[in-house]
Amino acid sequence: MVPGYHRPAVVKVNLGAIRRNLENEIKHLAPGQKMLAVVKANAYGHGAVEVAKVATEVGAAGFCVAILDEALQLRRADIVKPILVLGVVSPEYAPIAAVNDVSLTVPNLEWLKEAEKYLAKENLQLKIHLGIDSGMGRIGFSEDEDFIAANKFLENNDHFFVEGMFAHFASADSADETYFKHQCEKFNHMKSLLTVKPKWIHVDNTAASIFHEGIKSDLVRFGIGIYGLNPSSNPDSPDLNPAFKLEPALSFESELTHVKTIHKGDGVGYGSTFVADKDTIIGTVPVGYADGWIRKFQGFKVKVGDKYCPIVGRICMDQFMVKLPEKMPVGTKVVIISNNPADPNNIKAAADYVDTIHYEVACLLGDRLPRVYYEK
Ligand SMILES: *Cc1c(COP(=O)(O)O)cnc(C)c1O
Repeated sequence: MVPGYHRPAVVKVNLGAIRRNLENEIKHLAPGQKMLAVVKANAYGHGAVEVAKVATEVGAAGFCVAILDEALQLRRADIVKPILVLGVVSPEYAPIAAVNDVSLTVPNLEWLKEAEKYLAKENLQLKIHLGIDSGMGRIGFSEDEDFIAANKFLENNDHFFVEGMFAHFASADSADETYFKHQCEKFNHMKSLLTVKPKWIHVDNTAASIFHEGIKSDLVRFGIGIYGLNPSSNPDSPDLNPAFKLEPALSFESELTHVKTIHKGDGVGYGSTFVADKDTIIGTVPVGYADGWIRKFQGFKVKVGDKYCPIVGRICMDQFMVKLPEKMPVGTKVVIISNNPADPNNIKAAADYVDTIHYEVACLLGDRLPRVYYEK
């Protein structure tokens, strides 16, 4: 989708908050520990290149992305530090990664054997991180046999440089540590089978780093914390307290494009889910589910001028309507998501309202919304 530069709807990103969150995490690292900034999915909707540049300035050791194209985007933007692709890349693209100095995750022995064929053809060496499934149930080695064979395969193999070995926690954001500990044990067991020597062995995501100090991890893959959001923000459990203050960076703003009075019996939106019982002032905002502002937000209160006003009627693809307490002019500012955690329309409240996590709300905000950067 093309970005809408001629519509008053933008995602604003405070790079100052991002800088401070990164700096605070770097201060929080254990001695010798380094940080990889996780900028997958366009930096959780915040803008991968801009966030990566700030992370480079403050001293991130490198970056994590989800897919190869995200790594190539950073390389094209002259980001030179290490980049690890966390997902599985088809082995046929191993040479593209090697040529661009991008590190790939190895999910199993089969993948290694396939990738070697492609690398051998072009006489290339690829940097790899051995993925371990310690209980996330997603990708990586989980059987001893396969992992031992992979180690053997890698010994004296010039097509691969073993840069890392890592696993991912399923519940580092939970107060109950039972499964977390189980995953640590499984990982330590797999580590004991190593015969190759990875440069970095790492398990920490944001939650493990800020809630579970003392876990051995050469790198922290710091994601949601960059954006100032608490990883433990599930709608169904209270937040854990992070080790330092996190400052949300993102706000989502628009303006009223139309204001009118409707009368008793008049409906609003598809299916007329709102019908006026008396004269009612309705404002229209030029944002809809095509921007990632999903229909479930019907009823959520956004800030129009200095008043919180409910969304009435179904959210359309490109517009939604709010019920105003008084006549307000076209052009009145609408803050859909506030970056102030004290405001009732903060991103965590928005996520709770639609029964999800703020990660999802941020990632859903689409390309049609230009990102506007400022530093405060
Ligand atoms: C997304 C991801 C991270 C970052 O997680 P946060 O909760 O955002 O810190 C770290 N590691 C892996 C493997 C991931 O997929």
